[in-house]
Amino acid sequence: MSTTSSSTAALVGRGDLGWQEEFYRDLHRNPELSHQEHRTAAKVAERLGRLGCEVLTGVGGTGVIGLLRGGPGPVVLLRADMDALPVREATGLPYASEVTTDEDVPRPVMHACGHDVHVTCLLGAAQLLAEGREHWSGTLIALFQPAEEIGDGARGMVEDGLRERVPEPDVVLGQHVLPAPAGTIATGTGPVFAAADSLRITVHGRGGHGSMPHAAVDPVVVAAMIVVRLQTIVSREVPPGEQVVLTVGSVRAGAKSNVIPDTAVLELNLRTYDERIRQRVLAAVERIARAECTASGCPAEPGFERYGRYPVTDNDAEATERVTGALRAHFGADRVGDMGRLSASEDFGELAAAFGAPSSYWALGGTDPEVFERARRGGDLARDLPTNHSSLFAPVPSPTLRVGAEALAVAALAWLGGGAGN
Ligand code: ZN
Ligand code: ZN
Repeated sequence: MSTTSSSTAALVGRGDLGWQEEFYRDLHRNPELSHQEHRTAAKVAERLGRLGCEVLTGVGGTGVIGLLRGGPGPVVLLRADMDALPVREATGLPYASEVTTDEDVPRPVMHACGHDVHVTCLLGAAQLLAEGREHWSGTLIALFQPAEEIGDGARGMVEDGLRERVPEPDVVLGQHVLPAPAGTIATGTGPVFAAADSLRITVHGRGGHGSMPHAAVDPVVVAAMIVVRLQTIVSREVPPGEQVVLTVGSVRAGAKSNVIPDTAVLELNLRTYDERIRQRVLAAVERIARAECTASGCPAEPGFERYGRYPVTDNDAEATERVTGALRAHFGADRVGDMGRLSASEDFGELAAAFGAPSSYWALGGTDPEVFERARRGGDLARDLPTNHSSLFAPVPSPTLRVGAEALAVAALAWLGGGAGN
């Protein structure tokens, strides 16, 4: 183990990553929405090529893969996501995005989730490993995926033959920048990010005149009953120790006060941490919607449409222990904490699931430590610190980019560097 640590330090500590900040500012200034990451993908492919990687482009749309083959040994897949969000940036940074889409109704675009950080860090890690090939053996897969924000980017790469294009990884690793002090990392085992499901329910009533409800089946009343009754799933059907969030975020029906509409549409979002609970809640949602429609005498069964599906991010205990040990040895134990459980969701898990490989996903701090400390003393971090997806979310480039690159490289070396178990 000690030889691993010293070769890790030699490899990771020295690389010149001075380009990272300018590269990051450029990505931040030029964000691209899900499945439109063409410019980003081209920049990634160009840099991977310069590092001597075998480069695959256009995987699942705009996905890019860099392969570094370093002889026999383990295969490690490191993943970053590339897409931005339809958010109008309000950070006031000199490199803030002013991009809007050229659609009929233009949308603002911003890297409000920090995927520009992820891309820059993974390119940094690839460089550290490329420059230090004599210190490791095996294969590195640096994977840059599209469309994490709409939940189908990783799946798209898998469906486009990912498994046939790269060697089978022994482990899949990744990270997400979050509002925690820059320079720190947090890991955790088990389900660290929730599974998410979005569901659209269409209630079919029978429209008519608002003055003659007896001649109609009012889908507005049925929808209201469904919304209320859905609240009993979490409170009455889910075991008390389990965490579930069920939110009906949209209810749409009708256009005029004296017209009973034909249909009502509900959209709901579900967060769960356990596949069995997830299945149980989804079944309960369907059961309740069908029963309310029957109770009101709807002329047709309700329609169900699932979209925006994210798997649970379930960190393998053994792999996470190995990652945590390597990160602590490199950064010091005081800089590597416990990430706990977050109700956000990620499609990272799709990649590990596709290969049946263990995976680990950790949190990378991106907030200026002084700003963080001030907010902590104020007592309300959630209120005072901009979170991911906020128009004010602005990770500090230094030390975040360097630490993120080193973290990925160090974690990869826990397999490639001949550490325990190899
Ligand atoms: Zn996001
Ligand atoms: Zn994200």
